[in-house]
Amino acid sequence: MGNKVKKFLIVGAGFAGSVVARELADAGRDVHIIDKRAHVAGNAYDEVDAHGVLVHRYGPHIFHTNGERIFQYLSRFTEWRPYEHRVLGVVNGKEYPFPINRDTLNQLYDLQLDEAGAAEFFEKVREPRESVRTSEDVVLNSVGRDLYEKFFLNYTRKQWGLYPSQLKAGVAARIPTRTNTDDRYFTDIFQAMPLHGYTRMFENMLDHPNITVETGADFADVDRSTYDHIVYTGPIDAFYGHRFGALPYRSLRFEHEHLADTPQYQSVGTVNYPNDHAYTRITEFKHLTGQQHAGTSIVREYPQAEGDPYYPIPRDENEALFKRYEDLAQSESDVTFVGRLAQYRYYNMDQVVGAALAAAKRILEG
Ligand code: FAD
Ligand code: UDP
Repeated sequence: MGNKVKKFLIVGAGFAGSVVARELADAGRDVHIIDKRAHVAGNAYDEVDAHGVLVHRYGPHIFHTNGERIFQYLSRFTEWRPYEHRVLGVVNGKEYPFPINRDTLNQLYDLQLDEAGAAEFFEKVREPRESVRTSEDVVLNSVGRDLYEKFFLNYTRKQWGLYPSQLKAGVAARIPTRTNTDDRYFTDIFQAMPLHGYTRMFENMLDHPNITVETGADFADVDRSTYDHIVYTGPIDAFYGHRFGALPYRSLRFEHEHLADTPQYQSVGTVNYPNDHAYTRITEFKHLTGQQHAGTSIVREYPQAEGDPYYPIPRDENEALFKRYEDLAQSESDVTFVGRLAQYRYYNMDQVVGAALAAAKRILEG
């Protein structure tokens, strides 16, 4: 390349694309970032709905991380509101703390276990597994069959269209089991929501003289020859025209509802419905954002096979197919793939930020 100033195109203005854009821009590079949607922020996009409530269009996004560096990085673009997410799971019409903790056991089975008693309970009911390979193994190995059937089996079937035995261990391993009474969904050191919302945080991140932003623009319509390097954050199989076949991604349909005369719909941010309804969970946004409003807005999530790709589906055969695309990707010198869809990894937001910072560093050093 010599001294020629490289021109970068970034495809996708979610966490992956926006963080790379900012890093390259701060290092003096010229960056054009596009997204086929009408807005930035990717799946973390939030907006004020028609009733004045701040909602997340693509489902509830709660920021949590143990990575101080990542939290500090994002703190350049937003202030925060401390928020610890709590979830209840409905079983036989009653709400129980979820992830399963000692209170869940005591309420469900009418017991008075202390911490040692809860540990003993799990020891008695668990079905020890020699090797923990699938999500079924994870849950049976830690809490046994009854709790598996009450809280995990049907939720997983609904969410993925698959049995837990058909999914890798990492999916269910996201959910801990506790002998104490901690009822927080996450236990990370940093748990907070961007004070003015995710979209504002992204706008601040992309507000840089070296960055131009174009929404409503699809990579398929771009003349690639104008650019020296592409950072691609969409689905990797689409980049290669699905030449080895489509990589499966799980989608969702979001049903948003505003309740004008209901100040509070449910007692916590999210209520999970493992066994009832076609939706997996209901989230009430005011819990997450702390907003005061006479009414409230909620969202129901209906899993589906077709539609925008939201989740990679962690199974051996999918990862084998991904690997074939990844081998192609690794032979590219002028394209970088980063993010949840491009790397086909079940990444949380903070992990995407970490991956994007690493990718930007590689590009700048390369
Ligand atoms: P995305 O946000 O998907 O961004 C990719 C962008 O690329 C999209 O905007 C897309 O429009 C664009 N794009 C794709 N193809 C093209 C193309 N051809 N041309 C132009 N643009 C294109 N994480 C957490 O940490 N906490 C949570 O509570 C949490 N909750 C979640 C809830 C749901 C329902 C979902 C689906 C995810 C949740 N996540 C959560 C995960 C989080 O959304 C992701 O980790 C993160 O948003 C991924 O960022 P990304 O930039 O990799 O991908
Ligand atoms: N899960 C479950 N029951 C629940 C909540 C989660 O069986 O009440 C399982 C399910 O397989 C789900 C996985 O645990 O896909 C991970 O849950 P998490 O809440 O982390 O999913 P996400 O917020 O990423 O959709």
